[in-house]
Amino acid sequence: MSNLPDEAFRDTIGTIDEGGNRKFIFPKKPSGKFYDYRKIVSYVLLAILVANPFIKINGNQFMMFNVIERRFNIFGFPFWPQDFYLFVISMLVGVVFVILFTVVFGRIFCGWICPQTIFLEMVFRRIEYWIDGDRGSQSRLARQEWNGEKIRKRLLKWTVFFLISFGIANIFLAYLVGSDQLFLMIEQGPVKQASNFIALLIFTGVFYFVFVWFREQVCIIACPYGRLQGVLLDNKSINVAYDFVRGEKENGRGKFNKKEDRALTGKGDCIDCLQCVHVCPMGIDIRNGTQLECTNCTACIDECDHIMESVGLPKGLIRYASEDEIAKKEPFKFTNRMKGYTAVLFILLSVFVGMLFLRTNVEAIILRLPGQLFQHKGDKISNVYTYKIVNKTMKDYSDIHFELIDQKGEIKNVGNKNFKIKREETAQGTLFIEINEAILESDKTTIKIGVYNGKELLETTKTNFLGPRSFN
Ligand code: SF4
Ligand code: SF4
Repeated sequence: MSNLPDEAFRDTIGTIDEGGNRKFIFPKKPSGKFYDYRKIVSYVLLAILVANPFIKINGNQFMMFNVIERRFNIFGFPFWPQDFYLFVISMLVGVVFVILFTVVFGRIFCGWICPQTIFLEMVFRRIEYWIDGDRGSQSRLARQEWNGEKIRKRLLKWTVFFLISFGIANIFLAYLVGSDQLFLMIEQGPVKQASNFIALLIFTGVFYFVFVWFREQVCIIACPYGRLQGVLLDNKSINVAYDFVRGEKENGRGKFNKKEDRALTGKGDCIDCLQCVHVCPMGIDIRNGTQLECTNCTACIDECDHIMESVGLPKGLIRYASEDEIAKKEPFKFTNRMKGYTAVLFILLSVFVGMLFLRTNVEAIILRLPGQLFQHKGDKISNVYTYKIVNKTMKDYSDIHFELIDQKGEIKNVGNKNFKIKREETAQGTLFIEINEAILESDKTTIKIGVYNGKELLETTKTNFLGPRSFN
């Protein structure tokens, strides 16, 4: 904000003191309309996050990101390495979606949806308020000597935090290796499932470290999305913003005085009570303007609204607004940049949904054996092929066989004509296709092969059939 002369706050971050040491923040417990809405949204999202790896659709885990075995399930659709292009598109859609949202609605994702914010503000911080008390008690407890009260409260808090971190690590592992593996580990014990158990302990340690000590530093230092804000936001993006025009007026902010008529003295509506600063979990002063640290958590909106109400001024001194809305009184406009992002998002989404529905549960690759042409077998021409069938589902298929589609001829599978493929397994082998020479119209015919389970057509694939050149 250009009319705020002192920009020194941009040289430091609120959580590091002048000596370069970590400054712990003890934010005031938020309360108000937005905090209540955020609680509802957070607990719904938490329930979804916890339930996702335990829900199954057609035997497939609803969400799974098994990077070790390169198996991914998204909304119950299994993605194999062969489907990697779909996975990449879904990631692209996700990234564009977040960018679009950031351009239009600022960091709404950080404040309302990000799991880090939800766990920190709605789980760990709330337990902390319950055990240690509000801002004043927390900072007093941190400063005081180790006595009975401090030992008791710290032990209780760290134990509860460890148990929750352990719970989160279990959920995380269920996303990573699958809930079946997690249950197997619980059943067989840590010795038999040593690698999973070690991973569980490492994740627990990481979550404990993040939520007990590192906290808001994740958003400020570690999160790449946070660092992108400077590029994505512009004067038209909606953010949690302080209305400096109204707050400062001609003669700036000033303490509240019941007897003073601020319209006459030219003072702004900000009574410099600092409550918006005390409630901020990132330790910043929103009155300095849009800052990298601000996660748009809305706590300062609620807090300032309480203050405005108590001094009889209109609410909304801090609110969701764009810079132009505040400085130029311009109403919100859907800019060309926003339209461009929406169009890209829509195209990507359409491509993704189309590909998702065109994708089959069974994938068949049938290729002519390299270096082989064709053989005469009486009045028939024979070509030899190798095949690979991938069963991406959680179903076993017991009667798999091949049939030619739109072409007369015979398929001879080496080994059993009909074979089985278990769930999530592949089958490969060799087959011969024989076609009567008299009905071949070219030396290279494209043929369509159906992969059936009993009478059910699972997949079709195309390949070439070679024959002699002397056709009329
Ligand atoms: S809470 Fe509102 S009135 Fe108080 S300092 Fe912040 S902006 Fe000013
Ligand atoms: S400035 Fe306001 S919205 Fe931003 S992090 Fe602090 S309290 Fe939350």
